[in-house]
Amino acid sequence: MDKTAAPSLAQVDVTALKGVGKQLADKLAKLHIHSVQDLLFHLPLRYMDRTRITPIGGLQPLANVVIEGEIRACDVAFGRRRSLVCRLQDGTGLMTLRFFHFSAAQKKRLTVGAKIRCFGETRRGASGLEIYHPEYDFLDSHKPLALESKLTPVYPATEGITQARLRSLTEQALQLMDNHSLQELIPDDAWKHHPYPLAEAVAYLHHPPKEAPIDELLEGTHPYQQRLAFEELLAHHLSMLRVRQKLQSAGAEPLPIPSALLAKFRQQLGFELTGAQSRVAEEIAADLSQPFPMLRLVQGDVGSGKTVVAALAALQAVGNGLQAAIMAPTEILAEQHRHSFTQWLEPLGIKVGWLSGRQKAALRREQLAAIASGEAQVVVGTHALFQDEVVFADLGLTVIDEQHRFGVNQRLALRQKASQQARSHQLIMTATPIPRTLAMSAYADLDCSIIDELPPGRTPVSTVAISNERRGQVIERVRAACLSGRQAYWVCTLIEESEALEAKAAEEVAEQLRHELPDIAIGLVHGRLKAADKEVQMSEFKQGGLQLLVATTVIEVGVDVPNASLMIIENPERLGLAQLHQLRGRVGRGEAESHCVLLYGSPLSQHGRERITAMRETNDGFVIAEKDLQLRGPGEVLGTRQTGEVSFRLADLQRDGHLLPRVKEVATHIASKHPEVVEGLICRWLGSAENYANV
Ligand code: ADP
Ligand code: MG
Repeated sequence: MDKTAAPSLAQVDVTALKGVGKQLADKLAKLHIHSVQDLLFHLPLRYMDRTRITPIGGLQPLANVVIEGEIRACDVAFGRRRSLVCRLQDGTGLMTLRFFHFSAAQKKRLTVGAKIRCFGETRRGASGLEIYHPEYDFLDSHKPLALESKLTPVYPATEGITQARLRSLTEQALQLMDNHSLQELIPDDAWKHHPYPLAEAVAYLHHPPKEAPIDELLEGTHPYQQRLAFEELLAHHLSMLRVRQKLQSAGAEPLPIPSALLAKFRQQLGFELTGAQSRVAEEIAADLSQPFPMLRLVQGDVGSGKTVVAALAALQAVGNGLQAAIMAPTEILAEQHRHSFTQWLEPLGIKVGWLSGRQKAALRREQLAAIASGEAQVVVGTHALFQDEVVFADLGLTVIDEQHRFGVNQRLALRQKASQQARSHQLIMTATPIPRTLAMSAYADLDCSIIDELPPGRTPVSTVAISNERRGQVIERVRAACLSGRQAYWVCTLIEESEALEAKAAEEVAEQLRHELPDIAIGLVHGRLKAADKEVQMSEFKQGGLQLLVATTVIEVGVDVPNASLMIIENPERLGLAQLHQLRGRVGRGEAESHCVLLYGSPLSQHGRERITAMRETNDGFVIAEKDLQLRGPGEVLGTRQTGEVSFRLADLQRDGHLLPRVKEVATHIASKHPEVVEGLICRWLGSAENYANV
C-alpha cells in the first residue's frame, strides 16, 4: 500500500478549501482549526434530527423537532415583551410559534390557512409548548420539501462562523479524506480487536445516518465516538509520558541511602512511622538512589503524615552532601513546614533555610547567600524558592507540597523551573486524594505512592449540618468547647475569589463573636494580614493563648493544632467537597473527639445539599474525591477550570474513564515499540495546546 499517494491532511492548510481566505482562516484558528485534518477532528457537539416529522400531539419540551401544520391564528401579543404569536395545528394538536423579532412582511405571509414546516426547539411557554424563532418553510403541494436523510451535526462554533459554514467546510474536508490522507496512527498490534477504521468513524460522526442511535451519540457512548475518545486519551497520555522521558533523560545524581542518618532521625522523632509511611518512604528512597530523576507523586489524606516522609527524602539528599528544597503553596503552610523541619533537622546539625515572598530585604539577602553557599542544607519556602535570583549551591531534591492547588500547566512550569536550577529529583505531594481515573490521566508523568493509613490515636471527626437560623446555638457550642479547654476554628467563606472581601467578612464575624463571647480569647487570620501578624496569631493559637481562631480559607492547607477539636464552617455550600474536606482535616488531630459544624445558609441548592450529605457520610478523602468528580467534573477537581486546561475535544474523563487502564497499556506499548507515531498522535489531538509539555 502506497502511503505517499495522498498528502496527509495534517499537512493541508484550511486555506486549500474553497471559500477559505485569510479572514475565515483566522476565525477557524480560534477554534484550533489550522489544517484540514483539524477540521475533520472538529466533531459535532450534538445532533439534530431533521429526518422525520413529529406530530404536534407527541411533542415533548426541550426537543429539536420538525413539525408541519396549518396556521390557525397569527397575532401580535403585548405581554412583557411584544411578540408575534402564531398558532399551528396538525391533525394531532395545536402549538405556538413565537417571534420576538419580526418584520411586517413576515407577519403578512404567516396568514391563517397557510401550511408551513418548522424546525426548532420546544419549550414550555406562556401558552403551553412553544418554539421561539423556528426556522420555517411554506409548504407547497406542487413541489414537496425533502427531509434530511442524515442527522444534522451541530459544531462547536465561534463568532463569525455559522453552523452552515462549518457544515459546508466539513463537507469539503470529508471529500478529501480517504484512508491514506487520514492516517491510522495507532499500530495494528496495539489493538486487541480490530478497531473501526479511523476515516469511517470520522465520516460517520459528521453525518450519522437517519437510523443512527441518537441517544448514544448524544451521550458520547457510540462505538465510533469511543474509538476516537480512546485515541484522544492515548494522545494525552503519550504527551505526559514524553514530558517524563525528557526529564528523565537528563539524568540526576544518584543518592545512596544514608542509613545511619535516617536511623538517628527516626530515633528522635517521638513517634513510629505508620506502615504506609514506611512503605512510601522506602519507595522514595529507592527512586533517589537511581541515576535519573525521581518523578513521584505522594497522595495522602489530610493528616496522614506526609511531611515526615518529605523530611526523610530531604535527609537522603543532605546525607549525600546535596541540598533539598521544600515548596509550599501558601505562606502559612510554608511557615509550618519551616517549623517542623527546623524542629526535626536542627538537632541533627542540619541547617534549615527559609525564603518567603514577604521577607524583609536584609533577611532575604542573608538567606540567598546561605542557599548559594550551600550552608542552608534544606530550604523551605513558597513560590519565592523558584525565582531567578535563587541559586542553589547543589540542589539534589525538590519537594512540592500540596500540589493539588496547582493546575497541570502550573505544575509542569514549576517543575521546569526546578529542573532548570538543577537536574534534581522531584517529589510532589498532594493532600487532596485524586480519583483514580483522574490521577491516571493527569499524572501519567509521575509514579504514584499512596499513604493510605492515618497515624494511630486519631478519632474520626463527626460532622453535622446546622442552618444559619440556629447560629446562636452554634455560638453557645463554641463557648462550651472553649471553656472546657478545647480550641476551635470558625471559618468564613465567600463566593467571590476576592481576598479583600473575604478578609472583610472574616473581620466582621470576628467582631460579632468577640461581642457574643467576651470571655473567650479570639484570634483572626486572613490573607490580607502581614505575614508577621499572621504568624503571631497562628503561634498564639498553637500555644493555646487563643481559644478560637476566626479564619478565611487560608487555613485550608496544612495547619496543625492537635488541641483544636471543633470547627465551624460558615456557608459550606459555597465550597467544593475537596476544599471542605481539607478544612475539616484541621480538626481530629488529637485524642479528643472532634466535631465539624457545617453552618449553612438556607435554602440549600440541590448541589449544596448533596455536598453536605457527602461530608456527613464519610471522612475518607478518596470517597470524597470520587463524589467531587461526580458533582463538579474533572476541571474543577484538578483545579484547572480557570486556566481552561484538561479540555478534551471529545473524551470525557467521567464517561470514558473506563478506557484509561487500556490507554495506559497501549501508550506504554507505543512509546517503546512505535515511537515514530507518537508525534503525529500528539499533534493530531493536542495540536499547539501541548506547548506545556515542551519541557
Ligand atoms: P499531612 O499529611 O496532612 O501533611 P502532617 O505531615 O502535617 O500531615 O502530619 C499531621 C500530624 O501527624 C503532625 O502533627 C505529625 O507530626 C503527626 N504524625 C505524622 N506521622 C505520625 C505518626 N506516624 N505517628 C504519630 N503522629 C504522626
Ligand atoms: Mg501537609
